[in-house]
Amino acid sequence: MSQELGTAYRTTAAGTLRADDAGETIRLAGWVHRSRDLGGVLFIDLRDRSGLVQLSLGPDWTPADALERGAALGMESVIAVEGVVRRRPDGARNEELPTGEVEVHVGSLELLAAAETPPIPVYQVPGEELPAEELRLRYRYLDLRRTPLQRALETRHRALQTVRRHLTDRGFWEVDTPMLTRRTPEGARDYLVPSRVHPGEFYALPQSPQLYKQLLMVSGYDRYFQIAKCLRDEDLRADRQPEFTQIDAEMSFVAEEDVFTVGEEMMAALWKEVLGVDLPTPFPRLTYAEALAWYGTDKPDLRFGMEFVDLTETLQHADFRLFSAVRESGEQIKGVVAKGAADVLSRKDLDALNPVAQAAGVPGCLWVKRTSDGWSGQFARALDDELGRRLVEAAALEVGDVIVVVIGRFRRTTTVRESHGGATDADRLGGAEAALDALRRHLGDRLGLRDASKHAWAWITEFPLFDWDAEADRLVAAHHPFTAPHPEDVPVLLEHASETVAGEGARALFDARLRSRAYDAVYNGHEMASGSIRIHDARLQRTLFRALGIGQEEAERKFGFLLDAFRYGVPPHGGFAFGFDRLVMLLTGAASLRDVIAFPKTTAARALFEGAPASIGDDELKDLHIRKR
Ligand code: ASP
Repeated sequence: MSQELGTAYRTTAAGTLRADDAGETIRLAGWVHRSRDLGGVLFIDLRDRSGLVQLSLGPDWTPADALERGAALGMESVIAVEGVVRRRPDGARNEELPTGEVEVHVGSLELLAAAETPPIPVYQVPGEELPAEELRLRYRYLDLRRTPLQRALETRHRALQTVRRHLTDRGFWEVDTPMLTRRTPEGARDYLVPSRVHPGEFYALPQSPQLYKQLLMVSGYDRYFQIAKCLRDEDLRADRQPEFTQIDAEMSFVAEEDVFTVGEEMMAALWKEVLGVDLPTPFPRLTYAEALAWYGTDKPDLRFGMEFVDLTETLQHADFRLFSAVRESGEQIKGVVAKGAADVLSRKDLDALNPVAQAAGVPGCLWVKRTSDGWSGQFARALDDELGRRLVEAAALEVGDVIVVVIGRFRRTTTVRESHGGATDADRLGGAEAALDALRRHLGDRLGLRDASKHAWAWITEFPLFDWDAEADRLVAAHHPFTAPHPEDVPVLLEHASETVAGEGARALFDARLRSRAYDAVYNGHEMASGSIRIHDARLQRTLFRALGIGQEEAERKFGFLLDAFRYGVPPHGGFAFGFDRLVMLLTGAASLRDVIAFPKTTAARALFEGAPASIGDDELKDLHIRKR
């Protein structure tokens, strides 16, 4: 037994009792999980945070006593009991329950608080579905009594402590930064807080501690971290929370590799602590350009290979109209090879590929199988001996392999910033890339290659410096405007941005596809962290603002305090932010972020049980100097 939870009401925690404890007199306190009356003996499952134990009342309780008590003890009533731990008789053990070898024979019982019938059951009848999520969120305090949620939040706690310990041991200081602040530069909308004492003025809630952590570096704090609450007023999306938690860190006198080492060792510590898994470090590093060329995405799932193969050179010579047309159109033909899948993929599986490609925005895809007697499939007839031989060579095709190809434009096209339009990768990247990426993932699923027991991390480096915001028709920083440009691309930037850039000039800068020192950490196809090495030169910072069309006056107004600080000695610095909620979701195998956050918002950004957001009265609005329209 564990005395950890021992208090005035109890000596031990219910879920920690074991066969060794037999004979001990103990006191427990907790909730009535369920009770059963078996002809005079009343059994109660008593639940606390540590788990359940079975209480038995009888036979020295008179049946009337027990029944009377039983009737009074509705489910979820809070009781305290004193009793003796007994081994359960043979045949009455419950293998599935950690306390299943014992029960507590109750000598006295006290009702501490009666409960009304709960609107959502905490005890789940095996096989029964959970109530609708909306109802569960409305009664979150009851839903949180369920074991899976308690375990998820326990894991979250352990993960937090692991991160804190890990970073503290490596010389990081935890510094907390303000919630009432000025705009941060992440690019989403801010939540605004009206000032009562300064009519017409507003604070912004932080989208991230970005500016503060950079200022801490200017102040010489060297290594900072924070488990930071970030708030972004973005468009609603299925699994997005307006308020979320990041492991935010910044370091001075560092280059990319220093930051990667800290990030990957921290993840290795987490995976070890929570899953008992040894992650191999260092994680692989891929440039953004490589990730796009090989996997068509900046967050590739590296649990399996199936890299894109460029077949343009080979297949454009086929006597097959769809292929030969690329000679005129300048499009490309790329494919992925499903190794040994010819017998695994049924006709139905192959027919299912086209809709996958179409959903990603291309007219379709084509496949062939290499069989022992040649080719079969959609472009088999295009493959004469010579072309067949060249295809085998180009794609390293063996007998039994299937190759699926997509024709289109494989390159980054105009983008819409995620935070503005809620755009997906299909918008960010060309349709052909997105389609072959979708096919690769689809085939990976179908062939069982995306195995949950595999853990494939990587750093994606050299992200583009700029994106094109199609909605606003302007150049924007792809990460944020403090990200350093790639040293090799600085001359191009200086050349273009000698004065404030707008219109055609901005488009030319985007088309120059400058690289930056921004990076992401990806895990099994999920983006887990972003960060960058920052600009630490005030002149280069101003150049970058000019490139973004931000004139001197606007730069002063928005980021003046940072630019000022940069006048007084800035160390080279960089950092990252890991999405903590998503980490916990993946570590616990939870289906949704809402299952790893104690009090989450709905997909419509509402808090259901406390009822937020809520309208406020005219008087209060007047106090805040706000008039309703
Ligand atoms: N502040 C950035 C973000 O929230 C992370 C970073 O650059 O460190 O994405």
